[in-house]
Amino acid sequence: MRIGLGHDTHRFEEGSAQRPLILGGVEVPFRRSLVGHSDADVLFHALTDAILGALGERDIGEIFPDTAEENRGRDSAEFLKYAADLVYKREWRIENVDAVIFAQAPKLGPYKEQMKVNIARILEIPPESVGVKAKTGEKVGFIGREEAISAEAVVLLENNPR
Ligand code: MG
Repeated sequence: MRIGLGHDTHRFEEGSAQRPLILGGVEVPFRRSLVGHSDADVLFHALTDAILGALGERDIGEIFPDTAEENRGRDSAEFLKYAADLVYKREWRIENVDAVIFAQAPKLGPYKEQMKVNIARILEIPPESVGVKAKTGEKVGFIGREEAISAEAVVLLENNPR
């Protein structure tokens, strides 16, 4: 078995020309969105890094650099799919993933189920093998002051002899 750990943070941006707020592949209605070279999906980025870490691979920033034009505005589901494909190519199996989103606002409760479904679909595992939780920053720190959203994720891989 192998475990992997991932973490990511993106800060909020103000402005009228902002992009949608995307978390776990869900467009969450909110007055602000996150700064990022890709679509800034912190949850998908943390999950991608957890999987890459379990494989002993380079991290997401090395594989998909923010200096590359092809990654501008890119759907982060593609990063997650890339990591999952590597797992299966190497004959590992994803037993489960678990993740926490740290966001003071918006309230994410109504969107967690859809995030789970999205992750399960991309990773080709059952939704029961996916955990998504949301925590506020208790109004302290950069999360609590609504300056950014963070995410942490773990994954467990198992060997899959065929
Ligand atoms: Mg990121």
